[in-house]
Amino acid sequence: MRKFSIFFWWAALAVVLFVNTHVFAQTTHHDAINLRVNVKRLEQRILALAEFGKNPFGGVSRVAFSEADIQGRNYVISLMREAGLKVKIDAAGNIIGRREGRDPKLPSIIFGSHIDSVPNGGNYDGDVGSIGAIECAQVLHENNLATHHPLEVVVFADEEGGLVGSRAMIGELTAEALAVKSHSGKTIREGIRAIGGDPDKLAEAVRRKGDCKIFLELHIEQGGILVSEHLNIGVVEGIVGIKWWDVTIEGFANHAGTTPMDKRQDALLAAAQLIIAVNKVVTSVPGRQVGTVGRITAEPGAPNVIPGKVIMSLELRDLSSEKVNSLFQTIQEEAKNISQKTGTKISFSSIPTNSIPALTDECVRKIIAESARDLGLSFKLMPSGAGHDAQDMARIAPAGMIFVPSAGGISHSPKEYTKPEDMANGANVLLQTILKIDQGALE
Ligand SMILES: [Zn+2]
Repeated sequence: MRKFSIFFWWAALAVVLFVNTHVFAQTTHHDAINLRVNVKRLEQRILALAEFGKNPFGGVSRVAFSEADIQGRNYVISLMREAGLKVKIDAAGNIIGRREGRDPKLPSIIFGSHIDSVPNGGNYDGDVGSIGAIECAQVLHENNLATHHPLEVVVFADEEGGLVGSRAMIGELTAEALAVKSHSGKTIREGIRAIGGDPDKLAEAVRRKGDCKIFLELHIEQGGILVSEHLNIGVVEGIVGIKWWDVTIEGFANHAGTTPMDKRQDALLAAAQLIIAVNKVVTSVPGRQVGTVGRITAEPGAPNVIPGKVIMSLELRDLSSEKVNSLFQTIQEEAKNISQKTGTKISFSSIPTNSIPALTDECVRKIIAESARDLGLSFKLMPSGAGHDAQDMARIAPAGMIFVPSAGGISHSPKEYTKPEDMANGANVLLQTILKIDQGALE
C-alpha cells in the first residue's frame, strides 16, 4: 500500500511536469519581458542581405526595382516565412508578413522599414529595421507567444526614391509620381509591376486610420549624436520637415578689369554674404534646426567677368513648420539688406518637397523609453534629420521610431556601419515595445 502511494505521487508529479512543459509550452506575457533577439542571427542576416547588389566599395547599390532589389526582396520573403509569417505583396509592391493575433477584431501592430538603397549605399540603412523587425517576429514564433493584436512586418517598396510604398499605403501616391523615372531606369509604375505590385490597383494598398494600432520603425541614426554621446538608443521625437527654395541673385555682368570696385553689381559677392547670413540666422535661435546652401552656379562663369547672375539653393529643416517659416522670414529680411548694399536683386522661389514635419506619438515615445530603461540601455530624445516611411505612417496611426548608433555618423555610403550589439539593442527595444503595446500600454 505504501509502495503504491509513493508510486502514485511520483506518477502524479510526472504528469504535472509533462502538462506544464508540453501542453502549456506557450510563453506568457509575464515571461515575455525576458525575451531577447538573437544577435548572431541578426548579424548573419544583415551580411547575407548585403550580398544582393554588393558594390566594390563594401556597400550595396540596391536601388529600388533593380535586379538586386528583387533578389534582396526574395531573401527577406524567405526569412519572413521562416519566422512563421504569412507573406503577401500589396498593390504598391510592399512586402507584408502577417501573424494573426488572438483577437481578429483588433487593429494590427505594424513595424518594419525598407531594403532598397541609394546608388552606392551602405548595408545598414533600412536593412537593420527590416531584418530587426523579422527577428522580433521570429523570436515570438520560436517562443510560441501569441499576441492579442495581429502583427504585420512591412518592408516598404522604394523608400529612397520618395517613400513610394508608404505614400501608397496612406493613399497619397500620385499619378505624376508613378511617371517619375527611378534609378533602376524603370518608371515607378513599371517598377511596382516588376516587384509584384499592381499600379492600377493602388487603392487596394491603402490603409485607413483605425486599421493600424501603431507603426514602429527601427533605423540607424544616420548622424553622429548617439556615438558622440555614448548612448545606446535614440527615441525619435519626429521627422523634420524640409523646405527648399531656389534663390536667384541678379547683378550686372561687366568687365572685371575696367569696372572699379565701387561701381559693381556683383551677384556672387551678394550670394556669399547671403550664405553667411543663412548660417547666422539659423544659429541665432536655440534649437536643432539646420539650414544649408548646397548648390550654387554663377553666370557667365568666367575669371575675367563680374558675375551677373547667381542661382543657389536654400534648404531649411526642423520639427516645427512655424520655426522654418520664421527663419525664412528673417533670411528674406537679411536678403533685402544685402541686395540694397550690393545693388543686386534677390528673389526666392519655393520648390515643393512633399516633406512636412511629422511628430511621433508622445505616449509611444514614453513606451520606447521605458523599454530601453527596462533593458538597461541609455537613451535620449532626438529629432530625425532624414526622411523615413514612419513620417507617412504617422498620418494614419500613432508612430514611433527607434534609432541605433551609426559609426562615425556616416550614412548613404559604403562606409555605413552599426555594431551587431547596437542592432540587437534596437531590435530588443522594438520587441519589448511591441509587447507592451499589445498588453495595452497605449490605452
Ligand atoms: Zn532608411
